[in-house]
Formats: sequence, C-alpha cells, structure tokens
Amino acid sequence: MLNIVISGAPGSGKGTQSAIIVEQYGLSHISTGDMLREEIKAGTENGKKAEALINDGKLVPDEMIIAMLHDRVQNDLNNGSVKGFIFDGFPRTVTQAEALDSILKQKNIRVGVMLNIDVEQNELVKRLLNRGKTSGRSDDNLITIQERINVYEQKTMPVIQFYDKQGKHVRIKGTGTLDEVFAQIEE
Ligand code: ATP
Ligand code: MG
Repeated sequence: MLNIVISGAPGSGKGTQSAIIVEQYGLSHISTGDMLREEIKAGTENGKKAEALINDGKLVPDEMIIAMLHDRVQNDLNNGSVKGFIFDGFPRTVTQAEALDSILKQKNIRVGVMLNIDVEQNELVKRLLNRGKTSGRSDDNLITIQERINVYEQKTMPVIQFYDKQGKHVRIKGTGTLDEVFAQIEE
C-alpha cells in the first residue's frame, strides 16, 4: 500500500494536489477538513463541537479528530480493496502524528512519505481571500485566515520535524502551475 501524508499551510494546495494524486493512483482520500464540514452539514454532535472552532481558525480537539480518523480508516479497510491512503490535513499536531503511527501499525501498514507543500505567507493569504469569494467557507476571511496561519506555525510545523526524524519528509515547492507542483510530487 502507498500511504501519503500531505501537509502544508492553509491554502498551500493540499486538497488540489490530493485530487490529482487520487485520480492517478486511486488512493483513498481522507481530508479531515472535508469530514468536519460534512459533520457540520449533517448537524452531528461532532459537527456542533467543531463549528465555532473552525470559524475561529482553531483546531478541533485531538481526541475528536483522532477518533474520527480511526473510524474512517477502519471503514475504508473493511469496505474492500484499498490501494492506499492519502491523509490531507491530518496529522496537524504531533499528538495526531503519533496516533496515526499507532493506528496504522495495528493494521500492519505505515506512512511511506510526508509531503509538505511550501508556499510563502503573502501568497497563502492572497489565495485564500480569493477562494473566499466563491468557496462559501466561513473560515476564508482575513481575520480567520491569519489565525489559521498562526495555528499552522505553532501546532503543525512541529509535525515536519516528526517526519524528518523518520526520514520521510519531502519538501514540495508549492508555487508554479498545478502540473509543476504535481511533477515534484511524482518524482
Ligand atoms: P485548505 O483547505 O486550503 O488546505 P485548511 O488546511 O485550513 O485549508 P481544512 O484542512 O479544510 O482547511 O481544515 C479546516 C478546519 O478544520 C481547520 O482550520 C480546523 O479547524 C479543522 N481541522 C481540520 N483537520 C483538522 C485536524 N487534523 N485537527 C484539528 N482540526 C482540524
Ligand atoms: Mg483543504
């Protein structure tokens, strides 16, 4: 199985590149952000807990997201032939990274590579403000974007070192065309 963690600041293009990877390699795409937005839409308990946090640009609690991820991995594996996973927006904290390792270990699988898409701050803000015009996402506004970037730097950047120590981190330059970014990923 090919298991990929795709990481990067908000607006770095994780979701976009994940979609291209899925198309080419048929991996199961697990986006925790998408999962949370589904929970909010469906009005579940988790959705209710997550909504205000997401609107403020904060992370939802580790326990909640780890439990959701665990269920999702389990379900995908139960529902037949999985070629591998692409984890998009997870892990976002070192605690989540440790949990992912232990969840996968129980199933005798492992993360093969962690791709971190690197984009400078001004460009991130520009992209997200632009996306906000059409995304309808409550967190694509300037105040929340700035908080999401702060949270990324404080909580998620340490995850890069976590995978660096395992020799799994690869930096991807996230500017340029979609094809140029994807070419680096394929390599
Ligand atoms: P983009 O969609 O451009 O990659 P993003 O990474 O900020 O931007 P999502 O991954 O969709 O967006 O996440 C949206 C919000 O959902 C986050 O700001 C956070 O509140 C919550 N969230 C998503 N994944 C996690 C996670 N693994 N742990 C905690 N909170 C999460
Ligand atoms: Mg995304």
